[in-house]
Amino acid sequence: MTQMITPQPGIMDIALYQGGASHVAGHENALKLSSNENPFGPSPAAIKAYEREGRMLHRYPSADHGALRAAIAGVYNLDADRIICGTGSDEIIAFLCQAYAGPGTEVIHTEHGFAMYRISALAAGATPVEVAEHERVTDVDTILAACTDKTRLVFLANPNNPTGTMIGLGDIARLAEALPPQALLVLDGAYAEYVEGYDGGAALVDSRQNVVMTRTFSKIYGLGGLRIGWGYGPSHVIDVLGRVRGPFNLSSSALAAAEAAVRDVAYVDHCRAENARMRTWLADALAEIGVPSDVSLANFILARFTSQSEAEACDLHLQSQGLIVRRVGGYNLPSCLRITVGDESGCRRVVHAIRQFKEA
Ligand SMILES: *Cc1c(COP(=O)(O)O)cnc(C)c1O
Repeated sequence: MTQMITPQPGIMDIALYQGGASHVAGHENALKLSSNENPFGPSPAAIKAYEREGRMLHRYPSADHGALRAAIAGVYNLDADRIICGTGSDEIIAFLCQAYAGPGTEVIHTEHGFAMYRISALAAGATPVEVAEHERVTDVDTILAACTDKTRLVFLANPNNPTGTMIGLGDIARLAEALPPQALLVLDGAYAEYVEGYDGGAALVDSRQNVVMTRTFSKIYGLGGLRIGWGYGPSHVIDVLGRVRGPFNLSSSALAAAEAAVRDVAYVDHCRAENARMRTWLADALAEIGVPSDVSLANFILARFTSQSEAEACDLHLQSQGLIVRRVGGYNLPSCLRITVGDESGCRRVVHAIRQFKEA
């Protein structure tokens, strides 16, 4: 009687997450620019720490992540007691939905917001609510207009993925201030380290009781393969999330690599500067050949084509040249391609191939 065995409501509405492709037929060493990975990889210190930890695999990892939380707190000047670590920020997002949302509640995300918000809301039995952006930029007033007495979580990536755009801290503070009292604002700072002088909203977390920040080691830290993220919030939220977190959610190797990575501030500074330099170069070069993009604050650009068919044809041409970028039709941006900022030679290959395509 398998038809009697059914999942909870909402589960079958989840569309399987499509990761960035990493292979293209006929190319042994295709260049992957589809998942916003750091083209330089992690800090050498992180790789060393990972290898060192590999000799202790019979030991359980730390259950409280104390050393990693202390390192993060030191580098970012935060309160270590209000940091929680997860297997990627994806897990922090899932904890938030599990703990605060559920059947009969609503979870707001923006039109071109990160896919995991909807997936995690549905997995918790909650109703995802999509709100419009304005010209691919988050609109605080539209979010506020969508809030109801059922709203529990509002997810906002800043800078946003896949648009690369961001809004200022003044707007975010205004949003936090005007939310209904039962709602929590989640500031996803996956790309915060790429923005010179931006704290990801940490100071806003410190000054309020209804704001949480999520961060990741998957982007500028180059550790996507190890699955490490963290959250920073008011004590009452961190206490709640700590109750749903499994005690050994992070492996010892991941903890060691992340701790070394966060301490290597010079390496992060280098990656930020190099990303900014090549991002400007890439965006300018593409604009010159008729492929505009919004000003991106992240490690990718959202290239706009004249139509869905042109974007798809360009993607096929890029694939034929061994270049893998991301189609974003699933984010309701069918005439765009999201292109991760690679190293200099990678960016040059992309521009060369798109110029070929445009001139053909
Ligand atoms: C890449 C990304 C993340 C990171 O997810 P992890 O689970 O930490 O790898 C989170 N949010 C957004 C918006 C992203 O683009």
